[in-house]
Amino acid sequence: MTGKFPYNRKPSLCGYCLRGGKGFFITIENKIYVSCSYEHLEKIRQRVKNKEDIKAVIEVNPESINKVLEDYKSVYLNLARKNNSFVFHEWTTEDKQFFFRKFVSLYLGLEDKNAREGIDG
Ligand SMILES: [Zn+2]
Repeated sequence: MTGKFPYNRKPSLCGYCLRGGKGFFITIENKIYVSCSYEHLEKIRQRVKNKEDIKAVIEVNPESINKVLEDYKSVYLNLARKNNSFVFHEWTTEDKQFFFRKFVSLYLGLEDKNAREGIDG
């Protein structure tokens, strides 16, 4: 690894098990991978060396999308007012990026909570 870690484009998920990355990272053949644990750094190295895919998959939870959207109207309205337009593509690049960054952050936060606490059956 040379240079500074690119925190502004850090992958969210461990390159071995798809759990949340936790500050561990490894560079292999000029690609950066994050890891959930020190142990998985070596697992990532082996996986990439053996050209293996990750067996786990991440799926979208439609209910969580809906829950985030329920509370998202105020975010949208504030940004629309700030940009003097309800037309998304007329907003500043910074505000468009903020819009999605905040949405994804809220979604992942909700899914993190669901994973930790379970959902009502
Ligand atoms: Zn992992």
